[in-house]
Amino acid sequence: MTIVNENFALLSESYLFSEIAERVRRFHESTNSDDIIRLGIGDVTQPLCPAAIEAMHRAVDDMASSTTFHGYGPEQGYQFLRDAISQNDYRARGIDIASDEIFVSDGAKSDTGNIGDIFDICNSVAMTDPVYPVYVDTNVMSGRAGANVSGRWQNIEMMPCTFDNGFIPELPKSNPALIYLCFPNNPTGTVLTKSQLKPFVDYALEHKSIILFDSAYEAFITEDDVPHSIFEIEGAKKCAIEFRSYSKTAGFTGIRCGYTVVPRELIAYGRNGEQYELNKLWKRRQCTKFNGASYISQRGAESIYSEEGKKQVKSTIDYYLRNAKILLEGCQSIGLQATGGINSPYVWISSNRGVSSWQLFDLLLNECHLVGTPGVGFGPSGEGCFRLTAFNTYEKTIEAVNRLKRVSI
Ligand code: PLP
Repeated sequence: MTIVNENFALLSESYLFSEIAERVRRFHESTNSDDIIRLGIGDVTQPLCPAAIEAMHRAVDDMASSTTFHGYGPEQGYQFLRDAISQNDYRARGIDIASDEIFVSDGAKSDTGNIGDIFDICNSVAMTDPVYPVYVDTNVMSGRAGANVSGRWQNIEMMPCTFDNGFIPELPKSNPALIYLCFPNNPTGTVLTKSQLKPFVDYALEHKSIILFDSAYEAFITEDDVPHSIFEIEGAKKCAIEFRSYSKTAGFTGIRCGYTVVPRELIAYGRNGEQYELNKLWKRRQCTKFNGASYISQRGAESIYSEEGKKQVKSTIDYYLRNAKILLEGCQSIGLQATGGINSPYVWISSNRGVSSWQLFDLLLNECHLVGTPGVGFGPSGEGCFRLTAFNTYEKTIEAVNRLKRVSI
């Protein structure tokens, strides 16, 4: 008899997006209206920039000749991309990250999900709430989350981020070994300034915990005092791993490329107190379970660091940021509580009248023919809130705000 990993049975069905689809289907059936604007889109919609397209065409041509053909590449990524990352994303900002601290991958979902492999399942965990569901679910799958009692995972401390605390989480109370932070945040679109992030680094150093810092939305940062990397904070190389992605940065959601930074000086401990370098452990894990991102994706990623590539990528990000600003200001102008949208493609709203997330969903669907994502789907602290995304077109975003202005929420 084969026994399954029963932790999978602990996971609830991911009903959020299927429930949204079902409600939209029913709405469509009863009204026959095709006039729906989707502001729940979590995927980019604009085409790839010309620099990436040209680089990937050239990379395909390389594959056509035995002298330039590329088969299996290095598991940690090609040197040309690791060097470009080290130079452009770190050294240009005064952060000393070497290319052998960078591990190129097929994206941040895999890396944030897989990182748990190098940590014992006895470690307790903390994460912000609402949260990108991958952090919770992968800890459940490995058994690290513990039992679920009345909707709470016993080994996961949720750190609420709400309008009441200005989306600045309090430091954890349970002395967690692993702390997931995601800034700019999905789903709330909020950020921490350097001085707000520093206490987390100090806490992790003091408690010998590791911060898992997801900065998949770093490219959307517009404000000066918001750190692009956790390694801008003194001491972070001794307590943090950072995840980055080209998905939202350069529209690579379908191409697949990202990377993870594991500083060489980062250590964690064995049960008897022996010290282990996490860079070596992650390298070992990747070499065993991952065969590298494709040569073509990595050439595409490299191209966004060229002068032309940088300008082109920025212009697409600016397009989404303009949509985000329209959404944010539109929602604020009709008296909704609204945040995010300045350093992120997400705007997080709440009605002041105690309306639940799903009530807000139904109201916006029925009254405005708008679809977004109920905040409660991202965690208990998301109840009453709603996520709008900036990934639709400029024209549809303007129309969405006009519709919002016509109803009372
Ligand atoms: N991290 C966060 C916070 C995200 O929102 C997403 C995608 O939506 C990812 C990671 C996944 O990125 P990738 O496409 O690189 O796997």
